[in-house]
Amino acid sequence: MSNSPRRLIVGNWKMNGLTADLSEIEEVAWNIGELSADVAICPPATLLQSAVRITAGSRILLGAQDCSAQEGGAYTGDISARMIADCRARIVILGHSERRQYQCETDAIVRRKAEIALSAGLIPVICVGETEAEHLRQETLAVLKSQLQDCLPAALNETAVVIAYEPVWSIGTGRVPDQGEILAAHTFIRSSLIDAYGSVGAQLRILYGGSVKPENSAEILALENVDGVLVGGASLRAASFLRICEATGT
Ligand code: PEP
Repeated sequence: MSNSPRRLIVGNWKMNGLTADLSEIEEVAWNIGELSADVAICPPATLLQSAVRITAGSRILLGAQDCSAQEGGAYTGDISARMIADCRARIVILGHSERRQYQCETDAIVRRKAEIALSAGLIPVICVGETEAEHLRQETLAVLKSQLQDCLPAALNETAVVIAYEPVWSIGTGRVPDQGEILAAHTFIRSSLIDAYGSVGAQLRILYGGSVKPENSAEILALENVDGVLVGGASLRAASFLRICEATGT
């Protein structure tokens, strides 16, 4: 365990959260002091700067849920990686299946965003995972192989990229792959990262995401090569998110 990367727990608020909900982030920020894991919340962009301000001095990391594939300029409505870094946010989720589905994001776009995020000093959390149909056809590893080949930045010289394995059919459904399936996916991702980046790949964090709750987080986090979790619904309330964070131990 001692050679394992430091764990990372990320909350993805999606398109949820108004000013009144900032108190949930504050509560998380001031209650993670003794944990040995890194903890991050990615609220909607409208709350990012306020979230950074009210948690200054705590250990929480703040992040965005997406960034533009462009550096800047005439792209109405987009938010650049540099703008996110300028808010003093530290991470950015990229290639979430909801963006792939609703915004038609391709692997090539995700790779471009990851490269721009890295050059802005952000940690990209790159999401990969199979659909339900692909799962039923037992194509999970083939899908992961192709997504990793096409999404990962070409070169990395530090452990600044995070991969999140998120089976699409598990997101928001309450259905979680069995332990053997999670283990197989994470083992495959780890060997792909080592193939791509050598010893750096052995230290990159691989998160599991999909219906993680306080009730199942400890058993998921105990699996080899699961270096943390990406949490949607259960991250919206401080009480449930903190229980998941606490499953990493002190
Ligand atoms: C997610 O949105 O990345 C996610 C994993 O959602 P949930 O935890 O609600 O399944």
